[in-house]
Amino acid sequence: MRIGVVGTGYVGSVQGVILAEFGLDVICMDVIEEKIALLLQGKVPIYEPGLKEIMDKNVAAGRILFTTDVKYTVESSDVIFIAVGTPPKDDGSADLKYVLEVAQNIGKYINGYKVIVNKSTVPVGTAQLVKETIQTVLNERNMEYPFDIVSNPEFLREGKAVGDCLKPDRVVIGFDSDRAAEVMKKVYDVLYINETPFIFTDIETAETIKYASNAFLAVKISFINEMALLAEKVGANVQEIARAMGMDGRISPKFLHAGPGYGGSCFPKDTKAIVDIGRKYGEELKVIQGAIEANEKQKQRMVEKIVNRMNGVKGKTIAILGLSFKPETDDMRDAPSIDIINGLVKNGARIKAYCPQGMKEAKWRLATIEEHIQYCENEYDAVQNADATVFITEWHQFRGMSLQRMKDIMKGDFVFDLRNIHVKDRHVRTMFNYCPLGRN
Ligand code: NAD
Repeated sequence: MRIGVVGTGYVGSVQGVILAEFGLDVICMDVIEEKIALLLQGKVPIYEPGLKEIMDKNVAAGRILFTTDVKYTVESSDVIFIAVGTPPKDDGSADLKYVLEVAQNIGKYINGYKVIVNKSTVPVGTAQLVKETIQTVLNERNMEYPFDIVSNPEFLREGKAVGDCLKPDRVVIGFDSDRAAEVMKKVYDVLYINETPFIFTDIETAETIKYASNAFLAVKISFINEMALLAEKVGANVQEIARAMGMDGRISPKFLHAGPGYGGSCFPKDTKAIVDIGRKYGEELKVIQGAIEANEKQKQRMVEKIVNRMNGVKGKTIAILGLSFKPETDDMRDAPSIDIINGLVKNGARIKAYCPQGMKEAKWRLATIEEHIQYCENEYDAVQNADATVFITEWHQFRGMSLQRMKDIMKGDFVFDLRNIHVKDRHVRTMFNYCPLGRN
C-alpha cells in the first residue's frame, strides 16, 4: 500500500515519517519548493526533536520520498492524507482553501480507488465538501472513479510529535464505508495490533472530537490562569491549588499549570473555529467563548503586571526569555510572547529577546516593531544590562540558569517568572525583586 501525504508541515512531515517507520511506502508532497529541497537534502525544515533520526533511517531504507509533484503523488497513492493548514479567517472560522485546493487536485488526477484521509483540523461538513469537490472535477473530466473520505484527526503535540505518532493515546477514524475502514486498519496495522485504542465512528463525530478535545484543554488552561489571577489578589498559591485539584482523579493534574496564556497553531484557532461552528448551527458555546476571552485577558494582565510592578517601563530595557509558544518547538503562531512584547513596547520599553528556536520566526512576526527589539545570542546576553527579566516560555536551559550570574550582569533586579520555573530557589527572593505568577 502506498501512502501520499499532501502538506509537509508540522503534522504532515511527522505523520509521513512515522507511517514510513510503520513499514509503508510514503510520498510526502508540498507546494513549497524550498521545503521539499531541504527535505531532499536530508534537512528537517521544522524543529521537532527526534524527527531527523527516524527520517534519515526511512529515507535510507527507501520507504519515504519528498516531492512537489501533486499529480505523481495522487496517481501513485492508494491512500491520500490531507495535512494542509486550516488557518483562521477574520471571523474565526476555519479557512478551507488549502483543503479544497488539494481536493481539486485529487479530482484532477485520481486514477483508481483511493481513500482520502483528512488529517487537518476541519469543521463538521468538510468531508462532504471534499467529496463534492472531487466529484465535481471528476464530472468535468467525464470520468468515474470510486473513492471514500475518512476523517482521521491528529492529536500530536509539537515538541513531542514523534512519540505521539508512534504511540498515540487513541486513533479516531470517522468513516461511512466499510471498505475505507478496512483500508485504515491496514494503514495503522502496527498500532492496531499493539492495542492502541481505536474509535471507529461517523465522520461528523470524528470531525467534532478534535475541536472538542482542543477546546476542553484551552478551557482548562484558561481556568487555571484565572485562578492564578485570583490567587494573586487573595494571597493564595495557585500551584498548591492546582496540585490539590489535580489529585482529584476526576480533574487530573495535566494542563493545570498557570502561565501567560495559551498559544500555538491549534488552541487559539480551534477554539474560535468551534465557536463559529456553534454560531452557524444556532448554538452559542459560552464556555469556550469565555476561555477565549480569558486568554486575551491573561496576556494583557501579564503586561499590566510588569508595567505596574516596575512603575512604568518607558525607556527601560526588558529581557524576554522564550518566544515560541512552548518549549521544544520553533512555532511562534499566536505565541503569547508576541502580544506581551507588543504591549511592553507600546508602553515604551526596549526589548532584548532570546529563544533557543523561536527567533527566526519572531523576527518577521514582530517586524513592525523591530527597531525596539534586539535579538540576542543567548540567555545571558539577553539579560545583560536589563532592568527586568521576563520568563515567558519554560525552556530547560532557562531552568538551569545561574541566578548569581544573572544578578551580576543585570542592571535592575526585577524578575517576572510567568512560568514559576525558579519559584523553588531558596535565594531568588533575596537576590531579585521576584514576581512569580499566582503566588508569592
Ligand atoms: P503547517 O502550516 O505547518 O503545514 C501545512 C503545509 O501544507 C505547509 O507546508 C503548506 O505549504 C502545505 N500546503 C498548503 N497548501 C497545499 C497544497 N495545496 N498542496 C500541498 N501542500 C500544501 O500546518 P500544520 O501545523 O502541519 O497543521 C496542519 C493541520 O493539522 C491543521 O489543520 C492543524 O490545525 C492540524 N493540526 C496541527 C497540529 C500541530 O501541532 N501543528 C496538531 C494537530 C492537528
